[in-house]
Amino acid sequence: MTVPERPSLLENLDRVRELLRAQSFGLFTDVDGTIAPTSRTPDAAIVEPACAESLRSMVGRFLLVAAVSGRSMEDLRRMLTVDGMVYVANHGMERWRDNHSDVAPGAQAYYAEVRQALEEIKDSLIDDGIAVEDKGVVVAFHYRLASDPVGAERRLREAIAKSLGARRLAVHAGKMLIEVKPPVELSKGTALRELIAEFGLNAGIYLGDDRTDVEAMTALRELRGKGFDGIGVGVLGGAETPPGLLEACDYTLASVDEVCRFYAWLAEESRGLERG
Ligand SMILES: [Mg+2]
Repeated sequence: MTVPERPSLLENLDRVRELLRAQSFGLFTDVDGTIAPTSRTPDAAIVEPACAESLRSMVGRFLLVAAVSGRSMEDLRRMLTVDGMVYVANHGMERWRDNHSDVAPGAQAYYAEVRQALEEIKDSLIDDGIAVEDKGVVVAFHYRLASDPVGAERRLREAIAKSLGARRLAVHAGKMLIEVKPPVELSKGTALRELIAEFGLNAGIYLGDDRTDVEAMTALRELRGKGFDGIGVGVLGGAETPPGLLEACDYTLASVDEVCRFYAWLAEESRGLERG
């Protein structure tokens, strides 16, 4: 299979300058694998302090600075304490608004099934080295720490197949993880569309590293030329880069370090754009 080549964003900063000239520009960033290096367990991951600092300085200069993540809202608020930043958690199912978390009603309707599935799957996974991440309306099972990740993934899939609660739920695979979630058409893609419309953006940049970011980058491409201009930036993670990311993105950054370098540049470049 031939993997498409995508140019480095750092070598194409003029394209970013062009987007910054738009009236209403928004920055969308994924968190894990984009501004927080992947760690052994999800709890141990932290946002690079320099990256958080750059984001903080860009809030108020751009119409929107948003974190769009698969994390729970609780995690997102713990990891990123940037006032004025918009947080979208659980892949578009949850949004922080007016000091509380809003779960999309369509997703909330499956809460009981998600709880049931969590208990059933947890019970059949003993000593497998699988970490359970309870995100409220979504549950993620991470097999990164399993001594035999391939076997752990298989046993996890079997446990999910056996769970009665999971029957009406959707099952999604990510980087060394499987999520059980409400079967609703909410994604980072729908979140991106909603924010672009709500904030009246006519330009934007989306950065992400995983399968779920592909949906956002695809949405961004679909909007391009329809009163909106934007680019998708794939953050590469070596062997863990999912299929589809390179096809969906326009430019790449090689690592979290490069993302931080880019945000530092963007923060510098956006000086003087302060909104009253
Ligand atoms: Mg990610």
